[in-house]
Amino acid sequence: IKFTELAELDKKHFLHPSTSIRQHVENGPGFIFTEGEGIYLKDIRGRKLIDSLSSLWNVNIGHGRAELGQAAAEQMSKLAFSSTFGGNSHEPVIELAKKVAEWTPGDLNTTFFTSGGSESNDTAFKTARHYWKVKGQPNKTKIISRRLSYHGVAMGSTSATGIEPFREFTTSLAQGFLYVDSSIESLRALIEEEGAESIAAFISEPIQGSGGVNLPPKDYFKEVREMCDKHDILFIADEVICGFGRTGEKFGMDLFGVVPDIICMAKGISSGYAPIGGMVISDKIKKELMENYAGNFWHGYTYSGHPMCCAVALKNLEIIENENMVENVRNMGAELQKGLKYLEEKHDNLGNRRGAGLLGAIEFFKNVETKERYAEPVSAKVVAKALDRGLLGRSIVYGGQDTLAFAPPFCITKEEVGTIISIIDDSIAEVKKER
Ligand code: PLP
Repeated sequence: IKFTELAELDKKHFLHPSTSIRQHVENGPGFIFTEGEGIYLKDIRGRKLIDSLSSLWNVNIGHGRAELGQAAAEQMSKLAFSSTFGGNSHEPVIELAKKVAEWTPGDLNTTFFTSGGSESNDTAFKTARHYWKVKGQPNKTKIISRRLSYHGVAMGSTSATGIEPFREFTTSLAQGFLYVDSSIESLRALIEEEGAESIAAFISEPIQGSGGVNLPPKDYFKEVREMCDKHDILFIADEVICGFGRTGEKFGMDLFGVVPDIICMAKGISSGYAPIGGMVISDKIKKELMENYAGNFWHGYTYSGHPMCCAVALKNLEIIENENMVENVRNMGAELQKGLKYLEEKHDNLGNRRGAGLLGAIEFFKNVETKERYAEPVSAKVVAKALDRGLLGRSIVYGGQDTLAFAPPFCITKEEVGTIISIIDDSIAEVKKER
């Protein structure tokens, strides 16, 4: 009864993100979740589901860690909010900025805080343009991003997003955003065509998440780094999904041996326990901004460095460190890849297995050799069957692909990885039987 009442209210009053309004008002919510523990979510009707994508690739330490709630309560009862505008500060923001600098590579040592990934990327675009302006090159404004990238939904981050439906949602976008496919030759050609003197920055996820867990060609980022250096273009890494251990390295770009100029972060910094993100700049950028410009950094969110969010993020990073979770990501990531390999060998319509750490994907093909795809994606049907068996899964079909993606919490055990694989195995078999 409670579910029915809540579902009616939900249909009436709640506009869901990235959801068909029509379908939602017709069908109502799928699950109303009430609790979480480890890799599991529980809903109001008592169903327990494996959260195989860590919700939105973000609940990295897993559900139900009461210590984060305690950290939030302690901070809020002491100091719920004070502004960081105009140079004022508080302890949790200072401690978190220091902690982030310990995690980030190279000379990336200074963080601007936001409430999430979209804001972090918009902040980076504005900062990159401001940087060139104060260096006397105000025409360096264009931002290059990659096709199938996802950078968020604020006006700038939507404009940088390479998954087309997100851009087509609105009739006009922010100006000066360019898209490129994932070959270094295409990037070189685009820079030549547009003129390096007009380009402020290149942005990329280390491994594209929402676009399908896509790894770049080998050496791609090393070559991008060289090209950016040669042409005076800032290299922004969108580490919103990969950052803080998801790939088995501290940051996704560590996998490729590359240090960017700016890192954007969100999700993993707090494992979703509080809405917080950030942009980290290199000492080189900071020095230029300091020495060439005496005015304000005219960019700030009310919640830049919210005390409770910072306290929660600190506790989250402490747990990741104390429980050696990045090591578990490497070990369990190997198990996940083993499991995906088993599926690939068993089912003749699976191929293109990929991933790093606890980020993995596999794709359906009508013919794996010729890469011919099914007229109708199979991955969504497998996800529906997996749900009947207690697994919340993710199918990705952007750009014509037919992908199953996995990003379970870092606390996952070998046995739990096995359960995910066997549920997917049975779900594929059932979909096959029905064909
Ligand atoms: N960048 C990447 C790589 C993401 O995956 C996301 C969210 O999925 C974002 C940016 C946007 O972050 P948010 O939804 O916190 O604004």
